[in-house]
Amino acid sequence: MRRPISTCRVGSTVCLFPSAARPSPASSSALRLQFQSRSLGTSSPIEMENPEFNIEPTAEECAEVVRRLNGIQQEVTEVSQRLGLKQEPRLVAVSKTKPAALVRACFEAGHVHFGENYVQELVTKSKQLPEGIKWRFIGHLQSNKCKQVLSVPNLDCVETVDSVKLATALDKAAAAAGRTTPLSILVQINTSGEESKSGADPEKVVDVVKEIREKCSRLHFAGLMTIGRFDEHPEPDFRKLVECRKKVCDELGLPVEQVELSMGMSHDFKIAIEEGSTNVRVGSSIFGARVYHK
Ligand SMILES: *Cc1c(COP(=O)(O)O)cnc(C)c1O
Repeated sequence: MRRPISTCRVGSTVCLFPSAARPSPASSSALRLQFQSRSLGTSSPIEMENPEFNIEPTAEECAEVVRRLNGIQQEVTEVSQRLGLKQEPRLVAVSKTKPAALVRACFEAGHVHFGENYVQELVTKSKQLPEGIKWRFIGHLQSNKCKQVLSVPNLDCVETVDSVKLATALDKAAAAAGRTTPLSILVQINTSGEESKSGADPEKVVDVVKEIREKCSRLHFAGLMTIGRFDEHPEPDFRKLVECRKKVCDELGLPVEQVELSMGMSHDFKIAIEEGSTNVRVGSSIFGARVYHK
């Protein structure tokens, strides 16, 4: 059975949802609350709480997710062409809480970059899925979980490094895991100044990046990341991240093209690309709204 797709407006972007998953106005604010308290804060073991993780999707559901992924990829391409970008931003499909079979379907359709937020979920899923996948860890990370994250051989990037302490722990874990290639990391910046958000203080970005580059030889500093305010007008946060990159490049003598900006999610990825994003992280408009146990 093919579920009809319906659209809903979140922020300034129209998102596609299967009709059953379409958030009502009331549930989108509930979703947003969950979003802030669960997906961005510290987490408890997800498999215990997440009702979707172990549900095997049907072939039709897999096909629908692939269709939506292709739709988002096409939108990324269209915005990039309209802006005349030399390089199209990377689309990271954020599969947190979603079953491995959906990720496999997207991979088999040619998509390689996937993002996960929870260490245990990443470890479990990555064992069930092809090594050709490039995993990006985008959740809040504690130093004592670095070893587990580095146990994933096809971990491509950790986007959420918010301190020299965490970078040092990752560097050690990379050595212990015997990685042969440096691990790419992004430094997460708290551009909105909200207490609920992780990230380094924008004022400290140059110091943090400098120290990581000096001390952590197994890490490759690849750029900056922000989540930003969940808002119809996300531009101020995105511009702040662009400013942070300028400071880093000016003071450390790095070419701007070598410092990525990870910003933009389902509701604001097009605006993020217009503001200079090189890496957008899109979850619910590909995989459907997330459902968490209360
Ligand atoms: C969940 C998550 C996303 C994806 O959010 P959607 O609104 O579902 O696209 C992107 N980035 C981070 C850091 C996340 O935690």
